[in-house]
Amino acid sequence: MQTDRPSALERFRGTLVRPQDADYERLRHVWNRTVDRRPALIARCVCPEDVAIAVAHARQHGLPLAVRAGGHSVAGHSTCDDGVVVDLSMMSAVDVDPQARHARVEGGALLGAFDAATQAHLLAAPAGVVAHTGLGGLVLGGGFGWLSRKHGLAIDNLTAVDVVTADGRQMRADTEHHPDLFWALRGGGGNFGVATAFEFDLHHVGAVRFAVAYHPLDDGPRVLRDWAAYMSQAPDELTWVFYLRLAPPVPDVPKHLHGKPVLCGSACWIGDVSEGDLALEAVRDVGRPAAVATTTLPYRSLQGYSFPSPVLPDRAYFKSGYLDRLPDAAIDALLAAGASMTSPMSQLEVLYLGGAISRVPADATAFGHRTSPFVANFASAWRDPAHDSRHVAWAVDSHAALEPHMTGGGYVNFFNESEGHRTVDAFGADNLRRLRRIKADYDPDNTFRLNTNIVPGEG
Ligand code: FAD
Repeated sequence: MQTDRPSALERFRGTLVRPQDADYERLRHVWNRTVDRRPALIARCVCPEDVAIAVAHARQHGLPLAVRAGGHSVAGHSTCDDGVVVDLSMMSAVDVDPQARHARVEGGALLGAFDAATQAHLLAAPAGVVAHTGLGGLVLGGGFGWLSRKHGLAIDNLTAVDVVTADGRQMRADTEHHPDLFWALRGGGGNFGVATAFEFDLHHVGAVRFAVAYHPLDDGPRVLRDWAAYMSQAPDELTWVFYLRLAPPVPDVPKHLHGKPVLCGSACWIGDVSEGDLALEAVRDVGRPAAVATTTLPYRSLQGYSFPSPVLPDRAYFKSGYLDRLPDAAIDALLAAGASMTSPMSQLEVLYLGGAISRVPADATAFGHRTSPFVANFASAWRDPAHDSRHVAWAVDSHAALEPHMTGGGYVNFFNESEGHRTVDAFGADNLRRLRRIKADYDPDNTFRLNTNIVPGEG
């Protein structure tokens, strides 16, 4: 039957991009080019009403629906074939109230924009460590970075979220309005609607003291053992992580190590910089570093340090897990992964979380894993599609060797495309039951399913 009713898309104020449009090829891609999908429509939204229209269009036509902020989901959750992509990249404003130490950020902002706006007032909230990742995905999955041992996950600093739900309603979720939805949004990923704005409490963060030490792999057992022991009683102000990587040809690294697998210990002191050198002494003291550099820098400059390859990768595969302890056999597995690394753009990230993250009760937010302090992320990254299988195999095989020592939990933001079913691992059984009930209230048809998917139900 013909209808004269105008399509809701006619009221769309942003830009609609279809396969025949000039910008389509550029805009259809996500950061990880191993994900190669062709949506039928990219809806570049400029306001919550646009978001509601795009969601309604997908539902009305029974089309898959993907939501994209920074497009950095390694699993490729923010695009789809033959469906609608709600592209939030034009909704990226950041407003900071320095007196109230509060920020309001639109749902498509990148972490770099958030850091730039907040650091202009020497303020910050924890999220990730790489400027070009999107705040949307980072925050909804949890979000940890250099500030997290002191100030918690990104979600621990979130005070409100504006959401467009599957039925097109616009609502504010905070501790007073839709508190169950607010609970679920803090760690439950993009399962419950499109977040069009986030609000955060901010902290004063000025200059930070930073140290980096390069160790040859042979020294690894002693270095990682001492590091793990030290971190178990370290103050929250100290964040100290290890990257196993092929040493880049940069002046800080002795020439004989260039291109060789090394342990790069990176530490920052988020506190009074005059106390930093004392706190960072341990970084110089473990093992026999081949090179150590110490500096004081603005927090904003520290962001982006962690993915320092001179050539940026555009293909990636992550495989990760949590560990409660780091026994010698786990250290051996980590070092073997370092020794067999296949790409100068890859890194094995060995993090020690703990601190403020671990003091929030497991049921206070949907984020499932707060107490296992160690995270190992086999972040395989490269550019040449001809070598996809070799670089994926490095992450898969190395992870398998470490897996016997892992707790079984998982971080939604590090899951790869075959791990979307790992909901119990991600949220824990109790949180998952509650999440399924909330999903049934806010998205009973599972419209938002391109994520670590929570199936609506009684739990
Ligand atoms: P997108 O691909 O845009 O979205 C990811 C998921 O979130 C999708 O399911 C999408 O639908 C949903 N989503 C995104 N925004 C919204 C929104 N506004 N409303 C509803 N749903 C939304 N994680 C850390 O915790 N700390 C780090 O330091 C860190 N560093 C990283 C560095 C790199 C180079 C990469 C590739 C990843 C890193 N991650 C880190 C993981 C990161 O948190 C995830 O990749 C995250 O998905 C990135 O968010 P995004 O907005 O770019 O993702």
